[in-house]
Amino acid sequence: MAFIKINKQNFYHNLNQIALKTGSVEKIAIVLKDNAYGHGLELMGRLASEFGIKHAVVRKTAEAELIRSLFDTILILGDNIIKDEKYSFTINTLEDIKKAQKDAKVELKVDTGMHRNGIPLDELDEAFALIKAKGLNLTGVMTHYRSADELSSELFWQQKQFETVKQRVKETGFTDVRVHSHNTAAILRTKSFDEDLVRVGIGAYGYSELPHTFDDVGLRPVMSLYAKKISTRKLRAGERMGYGGDFIAAQDMTVSTYDLGYGDGWFRGDSNQPYVTSEGLSVLGRVSMDSISLESEKEEVCVMNDAQVAAKQLGTISYEITTALSAELPKEVI
Ligand SMILES: *Cc1c(COP(=O)(O)O)cnc(C)c1O
Repeated sequence: MAFIKINKQNFYHNLNQIALKTGSVEKIAIVLKDNAYGHGLELMGRLASEFGIKHAVVRKTAEAELIRSLFDTILILGDNIIKDEKYSFTINTLEDIKKAQKDAKVELKVDTGMHRNGIPLDELDEAFALIKAKGLNLTGVMTHYRSADELSSELFWQQKQFETVKQRVKETGFTDVRVHSHNTAAILRTKSFDEDLVRVGIGAYGYSELPHTFDDVGLRPVMSLYAKKISTRKLRAGERMGYGGDFIAAQDMTVSTYDLGYGDGWFRGDSNQPYVTSEGLSVLGRVSMDSISLESEKEEVCVMNDAQVAAKQLGTISYEITTALSAELPKEVI
């Protein structure tokens, strides 16, 4: 079966680079949602915990259950709000507050400009009052930036808005509320970090979608994707191969089929602009559900060792490449 190698040294290198920005490892919350961006939830949780990371972020309570023992706190981005000593839950709407279980730990997400999720600024007072009335335990206030990865001043404008939110939390009399707003792109752009936590996802896995004009902290890809040979055959000049016969051999050649396809979450792409593997082999013809063909006889090939390079070829971003990979692909730590 195709499989994924996880480079532990690169993961720790990335976490170190981020810790240099935050000032300490304890201020990093590792984002493990969506199977740790395809890298394996429990595996990456264990490695992060061994590195000294104390906080994690996931989407659902079921994910949190799988890594519960590894962290001091786990922030759940989108699930029913229940009372739990370790879990805190994101409040996105006033409705969320009304439905929450009494004494639950909650972190208020404030909409400072992304306009996707979060409480708008003009509903803040109502949210604070409801949280108190419902007897919820407000442990955090957060926001998410809409264009931290673009060259524009919008990030600074949103940051300004968030400053006023922090002020209002204090004025309302809440204490022990952690504040956090930075994702990978925002922390990489920040020169002086003064919040309690960063929520780092893609950067920990080795990628930054920032334009190169920003400080390059030299992140290293954690994942590489391998496929194993199924069979080898000779093609004669003029013979076609694969669905639709898209590939036509220009001369006699030896080709092999490898066990990775779109059923494993690999991108089907466009056979007219074939994907080129990290070893420089062009995918021949169409990608099938469970296989691809390459001009190679090797037992094992590295299909991808840098999701950002792959993303450029396939017209997407690194996040989508790694996250799309099937959770079933076995992982091997190197
Ligand atoms: C996914 C997510 C992050 C992580 O963002 P990266 O760009 O991967 O670092 C941070 N905060 C929230 C709310 C998220 O949903």
